[in-house]
Amino acid sequence: GEKGDWLFSHFYGIPHSVLKDWRKVRKLKQTREAFLQDDSCAEFGPNVQKCRECRLDRLRKSQEPAISPVFCRFYYFRRLSYSKNGVIRVNGFSVSEQTDEEAVTVWTGSSEDEEDKKRRKMDLETSKSVLAFLGDKFCQLVKTEDTAFSWVKKETQIMWKRAVRGVREMCDACEATLFNMHWACHKCGFVVCMDCYKARDNKKAKDKELYVWLRCVKNQPHDFKNLMPTQIVPETGKHRCRFVYLYVSKHHILFSVTFDCVPISKIVHCHLFVSIGRHAEVYALSERKIPVTKMPQGVMLDESPLADPHTVVPHDWLGNHRLLWLKDHRHQGNQRLFKENWTQEQPVLVSGLHKSLKANLWKPEQFSREFSSLHSDLYNCRDGSVTNSKVKEFWDGFEDVSKRPKSDKGESVVYRLKDWPSGEEFLALMPARYHDVMKSLPVPQYTDPEAHLNLASHLPSFFIRPDLGPRLCCAHGVTTCPAQDFGTSNLHVEISDTMSILVYVGVAKGNGLLEGEVQDESVKKRLKDPNETPGALWHIYMSKDLQKIQEFLQKADSDSEWDSDADPLREGGWYLSPRLRQRLQDEYGIENRTLLQFLGDAVIIPAGALHQVMNLHSCIQVNVDFVSPEHAHNSYYLTQELRPLKDQVNYEDKLQVKNIFYHSVKDAVATLRNHLKEKNADNVTQEES
Ligand SMILES: [Zn+2]
Ligand SMILES: [Zn+2]
Ligand SMILES: [Zn+2]
Repeated sequence: GEKGDWLFSHFYGIPHSVLKDWRKVRKLKQTREAFLQDDSCAEFGPNVQKCRECRLDRLRKSQEPAISPVFCRFYYFRRLSYSKNGVIRVNGFSVSEQTDEEAVTVWTGSSEDEEDKKRRKMDLETSKSVLAFLGDKFCQLVKTEDTAFSWVKKETQIMWKRAVRGVREMCDACEATLFNMHWACHKCGFVVCMDCYKARDNKKAKDKELYVWLRCVKNQPHDFKNLMPTQIVPETGKHRCRFVYLYVSKHHILFSVTFDCVPISKIVHCHLFVSIGRHAEVYALSERKIPVTKMPQGVMLDESPLADPHTVVPHDWLGNHRLLWLKDHRHQGNQRLFKENWTQEQPVLVSGLHKSLKANLWKPEQFSREFSSLHSDLYNCRDGSVTNSKVKEFWDGFEDVSKRPKSDKGESVVYRLKDWPSGEEFLALMPARYHDVMKSLPVPQYTDPEAHLNLASHLPSFFIRPDLGPRLCCAHGVTTCPAQDFGTSNLHVEISDTMSILVYVGVAKGNGLLEGEVQDESVKKRLKDPNETPGALWHIYMSKDLQKIQEFLQKADSDSEWDSDADPLREGGWYLSPRLRQRLQDEYGIENRTLLQFLGDAVIIPAGALHQVMNLHSCIQVNVDFVSPEHAHNSYYLTQELRPLKDQVNYEDKLQVKNIFYHSVKDAVATLRNHLKEKNADNVTQEES
């Protein structure tokens, strides 16, 4: 039957086009009513203009497989109808009133998918902390959307592009992920984000150079005035994009859920509110004020009568008592100590992971044997050159410097195999290693891909999950380099929180780089311990220093012959030698955190914190990314806010930050509402008895 067919294609692909059902086609021809384009442009005949994707598809060679219709720009967006003569013609585009339950569930979180249900469940404390940390930026997100809506003239219809499962909509100019409001060309399906649209309106010359707009059919340029304003989040009722409404006043977060249209003016107290019910009732959820400036303290609602973690959790302090070192990665009390430090935007070191890993899996000879025939890009850390070569060449020199190729100057290469493999490829290529490392993740409440404090876990299965690793990072040790002016990983910033686990150290002779780097007595002790193997030296800066360091490097850059217009951090061209680090401290007062990573150590770094790495010996590291509520504001800043502020390019939004924010807040609010409902039900029962 029909439903069965639909279910089949729904689970094993995409639903059949309406054209495949002759009964429906007959009816559509009779009534000539409009219907949704539910297949590639080419399937609807010559009178329907093809989108840019489908036009490219025509050039495809016949033996290549056809692209999936989900990539067609007009799929589930454009409307068509039959003419009197039975020819299919374009009949406008969808608008939000044409939404249906399935489209709405993606945004309201009422999907019945079991996996999604599990994802949505949060405990009360987590939901409060998520709202406290994300509230500010989420509010900004909503306001930005409202601003974009305000650019649309009253008489202009706003179109609605339904979100398509597994498709990430991107701006054709700057490649930003489209969250909701954007502009689309009705002829070819070209789309631009609100920043690119506004930049054209403002005639910003710099933007014009940075982001080229693709041309339309017949090589016509795109005029921003002719693009259609388009939303992705469907309207429900009168409100657009107001499933959750949030408002910040002076120093306090106000919260309101407008399922039932509670006007924001009704909320006058500086408390956290969630409203439920049809009668604009507003419930004070918490009497505690949550000042934005002191959020971390305000969120410490976890006052369970557990023993003080400072006395029971094995730990120590590094770098003038600023860095937490957790000594037992399996200890149950780690999370509380970790949280305390994490809110201060400090990196954290966790030790002992090698004791939980299967050592045999991580030996270089194993990798060499399994993947010897494989080719990969070998990056030479010494000069930045890249050679595509057999992976075997890398592994041969891993623990034997004499087997590494030499440059003209007689220096042996320092190779790095970067980000190979990553994410699902990691799982497919080396499942045993994948499971070995993923089962032993330290502070799993944050770092596990499914953890509630890992906000990426709140993206419904409808969306493409971002690649958060694990990624393998294998690199040679940096042999004799007295100037210490190059490292294994140059100074760079990640848009998510990230953790590097050192799973193997190959000691090759020729190292003496530690002088002056180690200040901590406890680290000196570790260096003398025969059971401890040092692997990599980390320099980490606080995220708040990012802009100053950028300035400093641009200044240092102008001394050299490089193009000083380029962002020195994005290019990843700098390794700060001891001399440069000293200058940074003297001229800007910026200090770094120095960490020595031993075998089995996990270095955990907040999003937005600049860092660089130098391998003292050859190292195999596994990197895992996550998105904690504490630093999500940095992800938002780097991917969304940078551009309008300083005419800069945003960092690539690999995370789909706005979607993560939206769905995390959505899940948190749902948790609070359920809690309130239960509380109300309890009260009613008590009153009755
Ligand atoms: Zn198309
Ligand atoms: Zn854009
Ligand atoms: Zn166009």
